[in-house]
Amino acid sequence: MQIRLVKPCVGEEELTALKDVIERAWLGKGPKVAEFEAAWSDFLSCPSSVAVNSGTAALHLAIQVFQFPIGKKVLVPAMTFVSTANAALYNRLEPVFVDVDEDTLSIDLEDLDRKCDPDCVAVIPVHFGGHPVKMDELMTWARDKNIKVVSDCAHCAGGSYKSKKLGLWGDIGCFSFEEKKLLVTGDGGMISSNDPELIQSLRVKAQTGMNSHTWDRAVQAEIQDYPDAYHWYYEVHELGFKYNMNDIAAAIGLVQLKKLERMNLSRSRIVKKYLQGFQNSPLVRLGMPYRDDTPYYLFMLRTSHRDSLIEHLTRMGVSTGVHTMPLPWHPLYSEHKKDIPTANRIWQEYVTLPLFPEMTDEQIQYVIDNVMEWKP
Ligand SMILES: *Cc1c(COP(=O)(O)O)cnc(C)c1O
Repeated sequence: MQIRLVKPCVGEEELTALKDVIERAWLGKGPKVAEFEAAWSDFLSCPSSVAVNSGTAALHLAIQVFQFPIGKKVLVPAMTFVSTANAALYNRLEPVFVDVDEDTLSIDLEDLDRKCDPDCVAVIPVHFGGHPVKMDELMTWARDKNIKVVSDCAHCAGGSYKSKKLGLWGDIGCFSFEEKKLLVTGDGGMISSNDPELIQSLRVKAQTGMNSHTWDRAVQAEIQDYPDAYHWYYEVHELGFKYNMNDIAAAIGLVQLKKLERMNLSRSRIVKKYLQGFQNSPLVRLGMPYRDDTPYYLFMLRTSHRDSLIEHLTRMGVSTGVHTMPLPWHPLYSEHKKDIPTANRIWQEYVTLPLFPEMTDEQIQYVIDNVMEWKP
């Protein structure tokens, strides 16, 4: 048997949606993007959202919108994808690496307080693997320090903490719909907030600074019978970026959003089977405390013989991953390596197992059996 680490859950419904886009022959930012933004906002229960072409773009803009003075600092967790920290550098701000909580692998709230100084202007909590950061505690702390909170929700589309959807706890929530994530559009992302003014400003930034987009002008002309001039007229007041989503991605996103709850329930079903399967293992521990009220992006085991387990599973046809090498282990951020003792000590003990909505019971059992039969 050969089992992939991740596999996007796509099929006939996505194909039909794509066919509609081709037949309409509006492939760029158009009606599907507007529809997807509205459906997503409805799903999260927020006034508005901006669809962008990646989670990385979402984070870049979400930090940019606050216009922090050059050289100020942004607090980020040590274990995350590189885009979280890059969001600081893109904006000529300095990333400050906060150590991780050994239990959850997310940002350690005590170290966060220790690392925070008066130059810190924002924090980017990451709900690592889907496990929610204690956002109530983090928000109380951040409001007290007057620090902006941009949540990196790349791992938790549809997830929640204390019955409130992740993404709206802070000032801005950034999602990734890259092909491995919980909702996939090939590449794509979404920025959501309860503050419509922030979203309007982000919308302009994501469409190269144009204060109205071709599609908006087409709609206005149709509805209000504007003179032709309004078809082409727009103004640019600031330096924007070509970060908007297109209708091809949005059409897939709309189908995926309808399936999201089902796909996430399937993930939870697999996690539950893994939890039962590994509960009596003397060799592996759970990588994080899996809750039953929110979906997970990663299923991780912890073992001091990680490389041996990876080799064994690879031999048996089971793909594995490592999430993640702490960012300061990359040359780009190596000057920060000494600041994160817990991440440095533990990261080499984690291995990620296959987890995707369409995993069959047979595949799940095969993974469990091979981990349980493994001897380091
Ligand atoms: C995937 C990911 C991103 C970036 O998303 P893209 O859509 O690939 O640009 C950001 N942060 C985290 C934690 C991620 O896993």
